[in-house]
Amino acid sequence: MALVVARDRKIQSIDWAQINTVLLDMDGTLLDLHFDNTFWLYTIPQHYASRNQLSLQEANDYLTPIFKSQTGKLNWYCLDFWSSTLGFDIASLKREVAAGVSWRPHAETFLRRLRASHCEAILITNAHPDTLAIKLDQLALGPWLDKRFTSHEFGAPKEDPAFWVHLQRNHPFDPTKTLFVDDSEHVLAAAEKYGIHHLVTLRQPDSQQRPRTSTRYPSIQHFDEIFAGLPDHA
Ligand SMILES: [Mg+2]
Repeated sequence: MALVVARDRKIQSIDWAQINTVLLDMDGTLLDLHFDNTFWLYTIPQHYASRNQLSLQEANDYLTPIFKSQTGKLNWYCLDFWSSTLGFDIASLKREVAAGVSWRPHAETFLRRLRASHCEAILITNAHPDTLAIKLDQLALGPWLDKRFTSHEFGAPKEDPAFWVHLQRNHPFDPTKTLFVDDSEHVLAAAEKYGIHHLVTLRQPDSQQRPRTSTRYPSIQHFDEIFAGLPDHA
């Protein structure tokens, strides 16, 4: 196995010689999920409340069941769906607060080191294309990636087996030599079912929340824990 994992599921090392392809999630993996959590849990309810002359509590009472009903579905990630459901332009609101988009610790260095290695680095995200564009405007992710795909182009989120079939068709890869890093364990479970051998999750996707103490999949706190074996120049 390429991953050496301690009993508490923390990764001790990766044998990079056994990996050819690295699939990377964006939000909560390369980028701090604090931006997205703040946007959906505070910015949207506040905006909805003020537009509809509601209290924040009333807005949350209305929005929470709608959010719950869409979790894990493509709509959850779709700004067009939310713009028409909530009655205002979500992408514009997101652009207004985009200065809050930030890297997770060591993520940019990890991408630079991957770039200098034999591995290809592919971004696979459930983020809507408009969200991806807003984030690419804020941070220079693009130069470090060989390819990037949003689940919207495949019509299925990463949680859906169909996503993996579409990804393989668009960009052939060997699942036995592929490492996939994602903060969502539901997504990792779908990747495992598809046959991806090397799966890693993050213990602290949101820098302002406590790290997870137990995870189903092998985990890292930050990317510097898996630098060993990757070139340190680019
Ligand atoms: Mg994520």
